Amino acid sequence: MHGLMQRTPLLLSSLITHAAENHAGAEIVGQSVEGPIVRSSWGEVARRAAQLAGALSRLGVREGDRIATLAWNTPRHLELYFGVTGIGAVLHTVNPRLFLPQIEYMLRHAEDSFLFFDISFTDIVAALAPKLAELRGLVALTDRAHMPALGLPNVLCYEDLLAGEADIYLWPRLDEDAASILCYTSGTTGNPKGVLYSHRALLLHSFCAAAADGLAVSCLDSGLVVVPLFHANAWGLPFAAAMVGAKLVLPGARLDGASLFSLMQTERCTFAAGVPTVWFGLFDYIDRNRDALDLSRFCLDRILCGGSAAPRVLIKRFDETFGAFLLHAWGMTETSPIATLGRLLPKHLGLDREARYDIQSKQGRPVYGVEVAIFDPEGQRLPRDGRAVGHLKVRGPWVTAGYFKGEGGVVLDAENWFDTGDVATIDADGYVTLTDRAKDIIKSGGEWISSIELENAAVGHPDVLEAAAIGVSHPKWVERPLLLVRCKEGKVVEKQAMLDFLADRVARWWLPDDVIMVEELPHTATGKLSKVSLRKTYADYLLKKAAE
Ligand code: ADP
Repeated sequence: MHGLMQRTPLLLSSLITHAAENHAGAEIVGQSVEGPIVRSSWGEVARRAAQLAGALSRLGVREGDRIATLAWNTPRHLELYFGVTGIGAVLHTVNPRLFLPQIEYMLRHAEDSFLFFDISFTDIVAALAPKLAELRGLVALTDRAHMPALGLPNVLCYEDLLAGEADIYLWPRLDEDAASILCYTSGTTGNPKGVLYSHRALLLHSFCAAAADGLAVSCLDSGLVVVPLFHANAWGLPFAAAMVGAKLVLPGARLDGASLFSLMQTERCTFAAGVPTVWFGLFDYIDRNRDALDLSRFCLDRILCGGSAAPRVLIKRFDETFGAFLLHAWGMTETSPIATLGRLLPKHLGLDREARYDIQSKQGRPVYGVEVAIFDPEGQRLPRDGRAVGHLKVRGPWVTAGYFKGEGGVVLDAENWFDTGDVATIDADGYVTLTDRAKDIIKSGGEWISSIELENAAVGHPDVLEAAAIGVSHPKWVERPLLLVRCKEGKVVEKQAMLDFLADRVARWWLPDDVIMVEELPHTATGKLSKVSLRKTYADYLLKKAAE
């Protein structure tokens, strides 16, 4: 017997309709690419998304067509999130930090019909557009006064495009399984692969993001979204915020400590979301300007942090400096991205701070909607005992079932598990602790050393800004850890001092065979340490040293 309830499709357009009707006045504040801070609202985003939808339809965009963006976190990019997906077209968010050939590959692979770009990316567009035959038009996300001189046909001005359109749009009743957003993983190995989110997946994910034990986004929040709209749907925050009418603060291209500090202070942010590197930048700014800064005017309640492991020292600093709880999240582009969150359990509430930081350092427990499990190399499920280390697999309604155009072949096993490529333990409470990405594990004489744990221990040193631990060839142990350390400006940490510091924090046999001070560490386009290039550079370092 079927239930007798309405079969309303779960569509992203329902979010902007709801926000416009019930939270029209809630603010959207953005650092524009042109310079000034712009103040919009959910009502205005809804009206302009409707105008955009009208313009796209007039340009001949149809359901399933891909529309690419090369854009920062701004109100206009937010309008695209709703205007494009609302009509059934697919928003393809492109990471502008990627190398030109990678961007070209993605635009070509996605067969995008239009490319909307911030004027700061004019050079990228000028280099690529002439090569891309599928592109029917380019739209500069600006007004007439700031239009770049591209010298290409088919360059439109976003504000002109919207100007003539009605600010109401009758959003079509799409199939909830229709594609809505396309986002390529950076593909550290092989070509980038497209993750194609359905409306249904992202809507269910929004309920999870808004829930109290999720990201707990509410209409009382003012959230600084540092995590890019071009990467994994900015962790679902645009949709969760529309669902509840939260104020959003969008930092545009200004991601330095000073700009973020100022926005968080003036916009009275209650939460902020970003990868650990961003927050180290914030504290670097605070440390340098401590005497001049007024920290009393902050109302920061929590930091949403993931993308790479949030070191304990960061958790502690947010607690001590702002009284803010660092909510550690783990996920990936393929999981929309929220999968596990580091909420505390009732039994943890009485713990002292240091013990609580230990819990927060783990990657968290699965949210409802994502099942997690660890497996040995033969595919046997491993126990949740906090000790067994295995390949982390996930499944659920917002986990990918396959990549766009079948790239990468079959990605699920017979029981629908998706292999994340990460290696982890899961304890009896369900807390996942990530030991490594499978390819980053340091395999020393048949035993595994966690590069993440070594790095976290190293950045616990007060003079260290960043650290990378990699496995490099060793004549006896096959691989041994090498630690590359970038110190804070004006600071130096000698090798022996670093080893002494680590000796209290990790097992003796985990201690790196050498410590090298570097001026810079390479990062991927998503802000993570680029271990692939480091491994290449230092592959024979210990072998050469042994031969000397
Ligand atoms: P990319 O590979 O393009 O950077 P993703 O954002 O999809 O794209 O990366 C997901 C990966 O990032 C995860 O598989 C994991 O290795 C890493 N990661 C994400 N969150 C965390 C976290 N909290 N701690 C450690 N690693 C994390």
